[in-house]
Amino acid sequence: MARLEFFGVRGSHPTPKLENLRFGGNTSCVVLYSDADPDGRFPVILDLGTGLTKFAVRQPLDGSFRGTALLSHLHFDHIQGLPFFSPIDRKGARLLIYGPSESGKPLSESLSTLIASPFFPVTLSDLSGEIIIGNVDTSEIVLDQPGEPKVFPQLVEHTNATFGFRIELDGKVIVYIPDHQAPSDGLTVKESVLDLCSGADILIHDAQYTQREFRKKSHWGHSTYDYALEIASRAEAKVLTFFHHDPCRSDEQLEEVERHYQNGNSISALHIFAAREGALIKI
Ligand SMILES: [Zn+2]
Ligand SMILES: [Zn+2]
Repeated sequence: MARLEFFGVRGSHPTPKLENLRFGGNTSCVVLYSDADPDGRFPVILDLGTGLTKFAVRQPLDGSFRGTALLSHLHFDHIQGLPFFSPIDRKGARLLIYGPSESGKPLSESLSTLIASPFFPVTLSDLSGEIIIGNVDTSEIVLDQPGEPKVFPQLVEHTNATFGFRIELDGKVIVYIPDHQAPSDGLTVKESVLDLCSGADILIHDAQYTQREFRKKSHWGHSTYDYALEIASRAEAKVLTFFHHDPCRSDEQLEEVERHYQNGNSISALHIFAAREGALIKI
């Protein structure tokens, strides 16, 4: 049984405020563990947003950290935790990062440009551990770690090069699409997206806007709750997780959204919930 843990569920930027304490204000970071790794020593980390700093406090600081990160894209809210990830600043620690090249620039070059002066006081190569950075395309990757997770990356619409990931682990399918531009009709779903999500045991999907908000922000790169539901139902997913919550959305509003979609869901087999920081889910 694979395990998923949410460390950052917010979109766009961190929102540390009282109104957000139940769902959390950290940006995208979800961690996946195989059943073959009961102690969680070989995590697959989905995005490196500020939630990564919350994940970091539970990790070893003796150089034994081993993990693999799948980076959906390069926006700040998905990488901001990386330079603060203390477990990798230890001799012997190792982090593999797979993510997109952008405008022909390898991922390693993009990250080294950003995590450097004048934007940040140290560079990735100043850290004591080993960070190995590879580009993804749409080819399958088999991760060399317990359970041998199979990763199928697929490009999805957003404002820049962005991947969604389908991960097959312990006989389950986990799909992660944190940022996804909904089409103007709110209905069209590309075949490639349906393939990515097909039969998912859990689909973690961008659900930043209500329909009303989307009318004003229809080109900002994100989805509505309804579009996430449209994809989940057409792909026959078993669980839909609303993710990448709008920074303005309070706990109260998120609970109301969750209730609305749980009560109004006509596809009885589909379970829906809104991602909460700190939630641990067994799949
Ligand atoms: Zn984002
Ligand atoms: Zn983005």
